[in-house]
Amino acid sequence: MTQVERQQWDVVVVGAGGAGLRAAIEAREQGARTAVICKSLFGKAHTVMAEGGIAASMGNVNSGDNWQVHFRDTMRGGKFLNQWRMAELHAREAPDRVWELETWGALFDRTPDGRISQRNFGGHEYPRLAHVGDRTGLELIRTLQQKIVSLQQDDKREFGDYEARLKVFQECTVTRVLKDDDRVSGAFCYERESGRFFVLEAPAVVLATGGIGKSFKVTSNSWEYTGDGHALALLAGAPLLNMEFVQFHPTGMVWPPSVKGILVTESVRGDGGVLRNSEGKRFMFDYVPDVFKEKYAESEAEGDRWYEDPDHNRRPPELLPRDEVARAINSEVKAGRGSPHGGVFLDVSTRMPAEVIRRRLPSMHHQFKELADVDITAEPMEVGPTCHYVMGGIAVDSDTAAARGVPGLFAAGEVAGGMHGSNRLGGNSLSDLLVFGRRAGLHAAEYASALAGARPGVDDAQVDLAAAEALRPFSAEPADATAAAPENPYTLHQELQQAMNDLVGIIRRDAEMRQALEKLGELRVRARRAGVEGHRQFNPGWHLALDLRNMLLVSECVARAALERTESRGGHTREDWPAMDRSWRRANLLCRLADPTEGLAATDPVRGQIRLTREETEPIRADLLALFEKEELVKYLAEEELHE
Ligand code: FAD
Repeated sequence: MTQVERQQWDVVVVGAGGAGLRAAIEAREQGARTAVICKSLFGKAHTVMAEGGIAASMGNVNSGDNWQVHFRDTMRGGKFLNQWRMAELHAREAPDRVWELETWGALFDRTPDGRISQRNFGGHEYPRLAHVGDRTGLELIRTLQQKIVSLQQDDKREFGDYEARLKVFQECTVTRVLKDDDRVSGAFCYERESGRFFVLEAPAVVLATGGIGKSFKVTSNSWEYTGDGHALALLAGAPLLNMEFVQFHPTGMVWPPSVKGILVTESVRGDGGVLRNSEGKRFMFDYVPDVFKEKYAESEAEGDRWYEDPDHNRRPPELLPRDEVARAINSEVKAGRGSPHGGVFLDVSTRMPAEVIRRRLPSMHHQFKELADVDITAEPMEVGPTCHYVMGGIAVDSDTAAARGVPGLFAAGEVAGGMHGSNRLGGNSLSDLLVFGRRAGLHAAEYASALAGARPGVDDAQVDLAAAEALRPFSAEPADATAAAPENPYTLHQELQQAMNDLVGIIRRDAEMRQALEKLGELRVRARRAGVEGHRQFNPGWHLALDLRNMLLVSECVARAALERTESRGGHTREDWPAMDRSWRRANLLCRLADPTEGLAATDPVRGQIRLTREETEPIRADLLALFEKEELVKYLAEEELHE
């Protein structure tokens, strides 16, 4: 039996980005003893990298805005595949979550009359993104951390211990959610620095681990986005929803190679930046799809006037939803009209005075100067699509954030599916984190408290299995006598990223996705022999070997679901099925582990680990449908829905 330290908590929150911190604050405020665990340093999460802002219909810059307009924009952006109840809750509650942040000390940029300033972003009808320059995520995380510290100070006064009811375990990774029969009973974790194992026993676990971008070669995501929460949920028996929808942000850096994929915020376009091809043409005017035709400017002059007078002009097509812009850039490059390094040009230098650029886009100015030696006040940036966000995720109850089928498991933030449908609008993630982070924390605390004395237990056998799984890379054997060494986790990771980028990337084809599934099967077999040298003290090769299990699981979900969905919608574009098909609107694709009772070891290495099922979505509530014109609904809803 493995000896590991055990601690008892009411709620364990996995992840300390915006969703995790907001969940932890809420659970603690409900009186639950709450542990937060994160694999990076406390404060270093994707949320901190968020640039543009938080979408909330406060109506500070245009009083026409309200939650109904935000709901409409979100559903349009997601091409009506969103879990409508999530989109409704999100639109209704986002303003309160932003004002609450302000009461906790967040310092947003202001309008001339002193209100929280809001900026334009793709797909949002009105200026809606509350922001702090282009460093909004940093302020969000700083504020939430400050709130956590203040709660800990309260506990010090009351109990003499800062960590009595809220403790952070930083640089610690969860590798398994533990269960007692069907109920959650805790989390198995290791400390990255020492390699020490420990168990956090708790009846409620909130997964807030973010996305999956590190499965792709070109990505805006950093090292911790290896799909851990998605995989932990699958392994615990919860399904993942619509994993085919991966967002390729239109503007990542393309040069130099070492920084390829790093994000160039949409605020650049929101504040007036335009996209041009190698011929100097603003090509986006050629790519406005029919569903959006009435809402976007037809000429450069009209698009330019919109920045000053949005009530009497239509917005420029550079501000179409991200999927549309990413595909357009892809087409321009493919047609030979790209920039020297395989992207297109994004120009602010001819559109705004240098001093305004430096004030409104300080991070972008710094990023291009430092990383590419480009002064964006004097020359255009070169940009191209980069894997940015996953719309698919853990299937949750819209109101409570409870993961489907696993009592005690909750999920919020990027790891949860449904809110954004087939494509997320910029700014809607930060608001999603706050709205559903709070809900997850609230319901996890309520669930834990309702159990009172009847708490699930953690049995030793499960802990032993989790420890053995985590240690396997230290005893991995070569494939056979001809192989000199076990498989190298870094090589496997590179092959995985290349395959996902090339075969399940921005434009997808049937044969290539089948090829990807074959490659994933091969990698899965090899990953079981991934070996590492050395010891357990801060060993990045070992950490990666463990993360590979998660990336392979989520990549298979993406590839299987993408192959199944024979249409193009939002973040899923099929060359062989180029149109959006209304009959697919009600279809959700659910991925489950093939045989959850026996665990990973028993699943067929070649046939794969994931089983896919289809499920029909619940009809959209009538009062919400009434927010749209009939002519618009005809473009989206399936035939039988229109009759209903
Ligand atoms: P994160 O903030 O990434 O936090 C995940 C946490 O989980 C981390 O603490 C990580 O260490 C931890 N973790 C992961 N796996 C484990 C594990 N196994 N064990 C323990 N801990 C684990 N969205 C907007 O709305 N507006 C923007 O302006 C915007 N700009 C962006 C700019 C960039 C460069 C990027 C990359 C994203 C941007 N986004 C933006 C998207 C948004 O930032 C993310 O979707 C969001 O921050 C995700 O928050 P989260 O709380 O779900 O996850």
